[in-house]
Amino acid sequence: MAKEKKGVRLEHISKIYKDPKTGKDFYAVKDSNIEIKPGSFVTLLGPSGCGKTTTLRMIAGFESPDEGEIYLGNEPINALTPNKRDTAMVFQSYALLPHYNIFDNVAYGLRIRKMDKDTIKEKVTNILKLVGLEGMEGRMTNQLSGGQQQRVALARALVIEPGVLLFDEPLSNLDAKLRVTMRTEIRRIQQEAGITAIYVTHDQSEAMAISDQIIIMNKGFIAQIGTPQEIYYHPVNKFVADFIGEANFLDGVIESKTGSDAIVNVNGHRIEVVDADKFSTGQAVTIVLRPEGAVVADEGQLPCKVVLSTFMGSYQNYHVMVGETLVKITDFNPKSKKIYQVGDTAFVRFEKENLHLL
Ligand code: ATP
Repeated sequence: MAKEKKGVRLEHISKIYKDPKTGKDFYAVKDSNIEIKPGSFVTLLGPSGCGKTTTLRMIAGFESPDEGEIYLGNEPINALTPNKRDTAMVFQSYALLPHYNIFDNVAYGLRIRKMDKDTIKEKVTNILKLVGLEGMEGRMTNQLSGGQQQRVALARALVIEPGVLLFDEPLSNLDAKLRVTMRTEIRRIQQEAGITAIYVTHDQSEAMAISDQIIIMNKGFIAQIGTPQEIYYHPVNKFVADFIGEANFLDGVIESKTGSDAIVNVNGHRIEVVDADKFSTGQAVTIVLRPEGAVVADEGQLPCKVVLSTFMGSYQNYHVMVGETLVKITDFNPKSKKIYQVGDTAFVRFEKENLHLL
């Protein structure tokens, strides 16, 4: 449906703002280099204030970069106003026209572009079918639920067939259940429309569920770019590991190496790890262990003491102390397993493939 799938490239993009408290300039976005492939779904993810919205607004043209260049396809777009860019934005607030019905809201952008009536009718009808609002053309937008309003907002953006669709936290005004439904819908629609999408959220599960690539931002910098699996299994630092999912951190020292395998000494216990190419013998390292990557058992690599043991249905939630370090473990299928109680001594057991070195 889209005219042409377009990629987006940010080259050394920075944005400087004045801090209203101190009056000093600071980088809201610093030396950002991003390459977004045509047709892919890319999410900007990070804590509040990390520069996600600023990045998106610079791509849309609502803010201009202080350094660097943005390209849409092969075209540099810094000098273009928002309406001259081949982008459309879906806002958190929906930004619908309140006294118009659904049809007129969606048709608005096409009328501005002076399309003929029949083409408008055909395009609006097709888009409403795509977003699941077929037959609701005459409904006023103030009579719609939040989810329906968001579908109208999406239809308005899609109908003009932009090269790139931009989303600024589009689901934050919806309740938790609807957010999950709508994110699946957004992903389906993006794939059916075959359009490039850039999506801002601070919700990591939303990002994981819909993205081809996730860009993790922290304090104006890009911390990591990768697929959800790369980011989850191979975080580049503690910030990323902690921000995406839950993570346990075990500090140790590389005792020896054989090829890309290594032995890490953690509190006097020797732990086998894989993929240790980047590290050398004697180096201090941190092992990242996801809660679902370990179990509590009678035998294992690290002796521990259970300090919390809670039945959660699909898993037993353990907190155990390994020396002075708290380790969280989600042990699945507890029905078929021995359950350890608070005060028990046991072991943390894991496969070496479940460990990641930082
Ligand atoms: P959130 O999730 O809270 O929306 P964000 O990651 O989208 O956060 P931005 O809105 O991009 O963050 O803001 C980045 C930084 O720039 C923040 O410190 C913010 O306070 C600051 N900022 C944003 N807009 C302006 C502005 N117009 N003037 C001054 N500072 C600004």
